[in-house]
Amino acid sequence: MFTVKELTKVFPEYRGAANDSILIRGTMTDTRQEVKQSLFVPIVGESFDAHQFLMEAIKQGAVAALWQNDRSLPEAIPTEFPILFVDDTTAALQQTARFYLNKVAPTVIGVTGSNGKTTTKDLTASILQVKYKTHKTAGNYNNHIGLPLTILAMPLDTEVVVLEMGMNRLGEISLLSKLAQPDHVIITNIGESHIEYLGSRENIARAKLEILDGWTERGLFVFDGDEPLLTPYMSRSSGVACGFSEAASKPIQHIEMTDDDSFFKLDSVPYHIPMSGRHNIKNASYVIAIATFLGLTSEEINQGFNQLEMSGMRFEKHEGKQGALIINDAYNASPTSMKAVIEVVCHLKDKKNKVLVLGDIFELGDHAADLHASVASAITEQINTVYTIGEHAGMITSALKDNYPGIESKHFQTKQSLSDQLQDKLTSETVVLLKASRGMKLEEIMKDLTN
Ligand code: ATP
Ligand code: MG
Repeated sequence: MFTVKELTKVFPEYRGAANDSILIRGTMTDTRQEVKQSLFVPIVGESFDAHQFLMEAIKQGAVAALWQNDRSLPEAIPTEFPILFVDDTTAALQQTARFYLNKVAPTVIGVTGSNGKTTTKDLTASILQVKYKTHKTAGNYNNHIGLPLTILAMPLDTEVVVLEMGMNRLGEISLLSKLAQPDHVIITNIGESHIEYLGSRENIARAKLEILDGWTERGLFVFDGDEPLLTPYMSRSSGVACGFSEAASKPIQHIEMTDDDSFFKLDSVPYHIPMSGRHNIKNASYVIAIATFLGLTSEEINQGFNQLEMSGMRFEKHEGKQGALIINDAYNASPTSMKAVIEVVCHLKDKKNKVLVLGDIFELGDHAADLHASVASAITEQINTVYTIGEHAGMITSALKDNYPGIESKHFQTKQSLSDQLQDKLTSETVVLLKASRGMKLEEIMKDLTN
C-alpha cells in the first residue's frame, strides 16, 4: 500500500529504519486482529490506551507504529523498529487515511442520513462494482476511527470508494467529510435519531448537511426529495432530490411491490430491486442517480441490484419453527426506521398472522415517550399481535390499546417471558418482525424462534 519512507513525509519525526523497503499492507488499531505487515496505530480512548500493546502488535506482524509524543516508549522496543511520533494518534490515523486517499485517488462517495446509510452504502457498492473496482465501509465502520480505517483498507487499484458517515453530534460529519472529500454525497433521510443530543429535527438536518463541508462538487448531491427541511437544496446546481412527491426533482413512479421485490421507474426507466419497502426503493433511487452519472447503463444497474450483498440483521429473513417467517431487523432502530419496516410487514401478502416484537429505541432523551407512542401510528389492522419490551416501548402497546383494541398487544418484562408466549403464535401463516435499538440485543430470542 505504501512504504514507511512515504509515511515519514507525513510525519517527519521518527526513529528506526524508515526506509523504502518496509512496505505497509494494512493498519491495525487492535492487536486482537492480526494484520501482517501492518502499521500499528495505538488509539487512546476514554477508558483505554492502546500504547501498552506495542510489543503485542509487533508480535502480531506490525512493521511500524505511530506513537503519541506524550507517552514514553518502552525500552524493550528494538531500535530499528520504525516509530513515527505524532501529537495525537487518532488525528494521525485520519492524516494517514488522507495521505492514502491522495495516493489512490478514487472517486469518493459519502453517505449520511438518519436511516438507511448502511443499506444505501451496500446498494451503491453492489451497483458500481459492475463497472468499477469498488471498496466500501465494512459493516458499520462509520465514525472518526472506522472511516479512516475503511480508507486504509482499500486496495491500491480502487476506483470508487463508498463511505458511510455516521454521527452523534454536530461537527462530526463535517470532520469526516473534510477528511474524505467526497465527489458525490447522499443524505438518505432526516429522522429523529440522536434528537437527545441535537434537540430538534432542524439541528439533525444541519448535522447531516455538514457532509457538504468537504464535498468537491465534482459530482452530485443526492437527497431525500420528500423531506421539507431539504427542499431549499433542490434549486442548487448538482442537487438531485429523489422522492415520491411530485415536487421531487427526480420523482419515483409506477411503484409495485411484492413480498420480496420492488419495481419502479425513475426517468421513465424501469428498475427492479430484490427487496420490499418504499424506503428501499428510495435508497435505490439515490444509487441510480449516481450510477447513471458515473456512466452505468440501466441494464448494468439492474444487474447490480440482482447481485446485492447486504450487511447483516437488516430485514434478514429466517425460517422459524412451524414454518413461520422470522424477520430479524434488530440491528438498530429509530422511530422512522421502525415505522418504515412495520409498513413493509403490513404489506406482506404471504403471511396472514403478523406479529411485531418491538423493543426500546435509545437516545431519544425527553422525546422518548412521545416518539415511542408515535410508532403506533404506523401499525394498521393488518397486524394481529404486538409485543413490546424495554423501558419505553410499552408506550407503543398503550397507544395501541387506546386506538386499536382489536390488535392483541402486550408489554413484557423479560425476553424469556416474551419469547415463551411467542411460541404459541408460530405457524406456517406467521411472520414475526424483531426490531429495536442495538443495545436491546433483541436478536437473542432468535434461537427460541428458529430450529
Ligand atoms: P446506523 O445509524 O445504525 O448505522 P443506518 O443509517 O446505517 O443505521 P441501515 O442499517 O441501513 O441504517 O438501516 C436501518 C433500518 O432503517 C433498516 O432496517 C430500515 O428499517 C430503515 N431504513 C432504511 N432506509 C431507510 C430510509 N431511507 N428511510 C427510513 N428508514 C429507512
Ligand atoms: Mg449503518
